[in-house]
Amino acid sequence: MKIDLHCPVEVRKWDIAVFDRGLPRAYIHLFNLSHLPILSLEGQAHWSNAAGEEIEALPFSLEASRAYARSEFTIALSPSQPECSAVELVFTRIRFAANRQDWLAQEGAWIEVPPPAPIGGQEEAALVRLAGAGATQYARLIPGAWICVCGRANALDAEQCARCMRGREVCLTRFTREAARYHLPPLPSSILASPPEPELPFPARSPSAAKSTRKSKMHGFNRRFWFTVALLVLALLLGLLASGAGNPSAPQPAVPAQRTAVLSIAEIFKSASSASAATPKSQDSP
Ligand SMILES: [Zn+2]
Repeated sequence: MKIDLHCPVEVRKWDIAVFDRGLPRAYIHLFNLSHLPILSLEGQAHWSNAAGEEIEALPFSLEASRAYARSEFTIALSPSQPECSAVELVFTRIRFAANRQDWLAQEGAWIEVPPPAPIGGQEEAALVRLAGAGATQYARLIPGAWICVCGRANALDAEQCARCMRGREVCLTRFTREAARYHLPPLPSSILASPPEPELPFPARSPSAAKSTRKSKMHGFNRRFWFTVALLVLALLLGLLASGAGNPSAPQPAVPAQRTAVLSIAEIFKSASSASAATPKSQDSP
């Protein structure tokens, strides 16, 4: 892949859609690496077919209304041939806001960036732990540039990565494959070990816990048993009483207190009648 190291715009990815008329349309996601909003872009779009052969090179000039500083924006381009299936952009002029000087492409600024060395999943995880989020490959030096851990190629005199702002010295001393191997710490034992058992308020598997559980079950059974017996006895007594009240020939139990009460009431009536009989005599006597 060839890139211009000093271009303030980089292509992140592109998608090609084919509509009814058969002409493809490319939606290209760009990133403004500068600290100024971009007003317009000029350059050439190199279109190629599925076999990688270049079909045509069309100049373009676009207004960029939403190309804010350090942010992503999208442009759309179309070729004139329907067999075009890939596109590569070469920017020649970029105009900034605030009357800043335009960026103009210079000869010889393009370099060929080799594909990244393959990296395993465990290595990538260790690299992310070492270099932070966004690290995708080891930092390295190539002819005319240094490659950051984020994958961006930077000019040799650039002290910071144009994409992620990581420092050149840090990348080339700490995040190379050799440095990462040397400094690679082992995985923490807390990750390798199995998760701890949950802490219960009582020993779950000890004999005393089982015994106490059985004891509590027996205690509940005894309470239910005696409650049932008491209910049965009460029902029996109620049945006996009901049968005694319904049969008048049945012998009544002797109740001395009740008899005493009956006798005393009869005596009260007797004394009251004798008193009423004696009262007129006492009225007539004077
Ligand atoms: Zn970077």
